[in-house]
This record gives sequence, structure tokens and C-alpha cells, in this order.
Amino acid sequence: MTIGAGLPIAVQTMCNTHTRDIDATVAQCLRMVQEGADIIRITVPGLSDVQAIRTIKERLVSNGVETPIVADIHFSADTAIAVAPYVDKVRINPGNFHRDHAIARERFAELVKVCKEHSTAVRIGLNHGSLGAYITNQYGNTSLAMCKAAMEWVGMCREFDFNQVVVSLKASNTIVMVEAYRLLAKAMEESGIVFPLHVGVTEAGNGDSGRIKSCVGISTLLSEGIGDTLRVSLTEDPVNEIPVGKYLADRYRHLTTSSLRGLKIEGKKAIATYHAPSKERVLLDFACDFSKRLLDRELDEIELISGFGKEYDEYLVNELLQATRRRFYKPEYIACPGCGRTMYNLQDAFEKVKAATSHMNGLVIAVMGCIVNGPGEMADAHWGYVGEGNSMVSIYKKNVPVLRHVPESEAVERLVELIEKEINPD
Ligand code: SF4
Repeated sequence: MTIGAGLPIAVQTMCNTHTRDIDATVAQCLRMVQEGADIIRITVPGLSDVQAIRTIKERLVSNGVETPIVADIHFSADTAIAVAPYVDKVRINPGNFHRDHAIARERFAELVKVCKEHSTAVRIGLNHGSLGAYITNQYGNTSLAMCKAAMEWVGMCREFDFNQVVVSLKASNTIVMVEAYRLLAKAMEESGIVFPLHVGVTEAGNGDSGRIKSCVGISTLLSEGIGDTLRVSLTEDPVNEIPVGKYLADRYRHLTTSSLRGLKIEGKKAIATYHAPSKERVLLDFACDFSKRLLDRELDEIELISGFGKEYDEYLVNELLQATRRRFYKPEYIACPGCGRTMYNLQDAFEKVKAATSHMNGLVIAVMGCIVNGPGEMADAHWGYVGEGNSMVSIYKKNVPVLRHVPESEAVERLVELIEKEINPD
């Protein structure tokens, strides 16, 4: 498969099964393919998982599935190099490819060599929450830092004469995410090396909020011609990500149009009237029609007339203002989608945390699936709730663990106690 300028936007998703559970992972891949996934990512936590993804790929091919399979790698250059012959693409995170920057360069050169031999692509997948100290010491934890880090790896690809490359700069904060991609698109253009971009809002959460947040970041970029492949990350069954991703891909290929039927602009206020067949459709249309204008502060206020009732209209406006970070009407939640590293029932834990903290407006609360990557990925959170495995949870304040090994059955209560104690110390 080829992605890039002029080609359809490819929709990706990622398995949340344990990679060693080959039957479950193959079954999930087949459901994804049936739903229309163009690319599937599978985590490969370590060397001992390489054989599992190799078998998964072989089983899919023997089922007639040619959908590209991407190995997701963190903290192990050895694993990236070992898995490269057996998959279509390897995703690496420069923030954790190797702690020592000089060694990271050497190991990346080794990876590129293997990728060239096997025609394997590489995604340079940076995340706002896990930029390496090497880059944050120079530029802070900013969109510019993300762009600078990406450009350094783009430069290495040129140096190593390697061009099967995709780049991503995901963040949970939609302003940071959009700014980072805009900077990178411009920097690549100016440098004369333009690689395709994979766009997405990471740790977007679930339900309507997760869909709206993803639409905010992705639609703003696609409307500017930035983005060649996308993932809508949801803390749900990953198959649910695909219809939202397809909607976005189709919309920006002009294969579908918005159900917006009336628009009046008065200064910085818009009054928008829709005629959509369903609530789900009005949500997607509305989020895509107004995200960019809210993010770029062309508009401050919106009145929505969706045809599904005043309560729903107000709810969608609140959700969109929150996702564009213009007004916060509830706590901000960061939740990873889960993957083969997930240590507990993430979807269940996220719902419990949301139910117990819904009144705590002003806070950013993260619910993460694993202790290996979770703490590093929740950069903006005031509080973090992280699965440790063995039915235990760690609770973080900022990026510091304040309670470890809390049984899952008590962990939500402990988190609420800690937050309340901080709000009312007496
Ligand atoms: S933080 Fe979540 S998505 Fe990221 S590696 Fe851990 S379980 Fe997977």
C-alpha cells in the first residue's frame, strides 16, 4: 500500500488484545478489516513477542488479508530491528528509542538497514507526553520541541538515504497537536524533504468527547491539506474507531458533505442549523464544521440548532468548546486507547474514574493502561490513574507516583480522597 500526496487518506486502528494471544489478535484484526481498516497496528512489547506478530501476519495473509501490519515499539531498539523483516511498518517513538541520543542514531541506522532490505516502512511517531530530555531541555515541552525532534529524525532518514517514512506528532491537547503538525508541515516543505503525515489526537478518551476531540485535531489539519493517514484513538473497542476515521477521510476527499443547512455569523458568534439523519452524524458534521474556526479564534460562540432538542444542542456546543479548549465545563480527561500492554480493564476503569470525578471541573485526570508507557504519556495531567497489572493501580500527582500497589477495588476511592484532600486540606 502507498500513502502520500494525492492518494486516499488511509484509516488506521490498533489492536488492544495481548499480542501473544494470537487467536484473539487475529480475530480482532479480521473484524477491523471487515469494518474497513486500511492499516492495523499491533504492539510488540519485547523480543519475545516478535514471533507472535510474525505468526499473526502469516495467519492474516493465509486468510487473504493483505492489510499492512505495523509493529508498535517502545523502549527497545533491539525489538524494532528484530521485528522489521516480518511486518509492513515499524513505529518507533524517538522519545524512548534509546535514552542516549548518540546511541539512538546508531541503532536507527541499523533499523534502517534492515528496513531497506525488507521494504519495511518506518513511522517516526512522537508524542507530546514522551519527548526525550535531549529535546525538552532545549525547547521545553512544546509544539516547537515536537517539530524540532521530528525534523532531526527526518534529517537522519535523508542522511541514511531512506524514504519509506511516515511522521506523526500526537498530543492530547488539540491546540498543541494542531500547532505541532502545522510547524512540521512548514519545516518539511522548507527543507525540501516532505514525508507523509499520520495525524491523530492521542489519548482522546471515549464516547462523544473522544470523537469530538479527534475530529477537532484531525479535521482542522485535513482541511489545510495536512495528513495522509489518520487514527481516531478511542478508549473503546478499536473497531469503533474506523467509522469515525472513514467519515473524516471521506469528508476531506469530498465524498461526503456536511448536513449544515443554515449559517449566520454575527461578529464572533455563529448560529448553525443542521438537518442530519442522526445525532451521531450531527456530532461529526458540527465538530468538523467549526473546530478550525474555534481553535484559530475566528469564532468565540456558537448557537446550534440540530433538530434533536435544545439540551442536545447545548451539550454538543459545550463539548466542542471543551475539545477546542475555549471553555471547560467539566474535567479534562486523558485516556489511552489501550493496546497489548494494557494491564487491566481500562474501559471499565475509565468509566468509574469519570463517574467519581465528573464534578471536579478544572482538573486534568489521566487514566492509562500500563505502567511502562502510561506515566510518560500523561504530560498535562494533574492526576494519573495507571494500571500496574495483578489488579493493582498506581496513582500519580503530576508525574510523581503518590500511591502504589492500590487494589483496583479501592483505587477510584483513593484517587478521589487524594484530590479532595488537596482541594480542602483541613
Ligand atoms: S499507555 Fe495505553 S496505549 Fe500506551 S502503551 Fe500503555 S496501555 Fe498501550
